[in-house]
Amino acid sequence: MTLLPRVLGFLKLESPSISANVRCFAHLSTANVLAKMNDSTSKRLRVLVDMDGVLADFEGGFLKKYRAKYPNEPYINLEDRRGFWVSTQYGQLRSDLCAKAISIWESKNFFLELDPIPGGVEAVKEMSKMENTDVFICTSPIKHYSHCPYEKYAWIEKHFGHEFLEQIILTRDKTVVSGDILIDDKPDILGVEPKPSWEHVLFLACHNKHLLPSAGHRSLLSWHHDWRGLLESKRQ
Ligand SMILES: [Mg+2]
Repeated sequence: MTLLPRVLGFLKLESPSISANVRCFAHLSTANVLAKMNDSTSKRLRVLVDMDGVLADFEGGFLKKYRAKYPNEPYINLEDRRGFWVSTQYGQLRSDLCAKAISIWESKNFFLELDPIPGGVEAVKEMSKMENTDVFICTSPIKHYSHCPYEKYAWIEKHFGHEFLEQIILTRDKTVVSGDILIDDKPDILGVEPKPSWEHVLFLACHNKHLLPSAGHRSLLSWHHDWRGLLESKRQ
């Protein structure tokens, strides 16, 4: 005879309250085991979320500061933005405006003072608490590095808290980062890896909303749309 039935018999005889506690513990223990079994059957997901244009309002912040610095120069309304590169479209408007546009995001506090895109911070906080889900903010700093990398860290700490600093990937080439899904407003994400592991989901922005959706390319219209369903579809 093993020891356990004798111990349980003793507890039952000697103390009804102890016996109840044991049953309660046994119940919790079974629930935990079942939870772990569920965990092991649900696919673990790694989500990469871009920062500028997805979590931080780069376009809105740019226009506000450009107009404040160059009040007498022509500008492009957000509804009229076309193409990923702001400086390219400003250069087409007038050649010297390209450098003036660049001077805006190269200046101190530009990245730090960007407003959050509505719903983005809340969505990423929620997904980072989901079972079997790892979330990273995957962002490309500009090559003029005096302020940008520092300010990206500071922005994330300000909006997500200090602990989220563990979940930052700064890279100029997102194709070498592995993940299941990359939510990004840049239409073409290219790099040295021709077949990245992630599915690129295009986040809608003023500069890309006129593009025709390419076959098999999914998009997320905003953080108020069904990002949870998108993640769930990747666990299938
Ligand atoms: Mg972006």
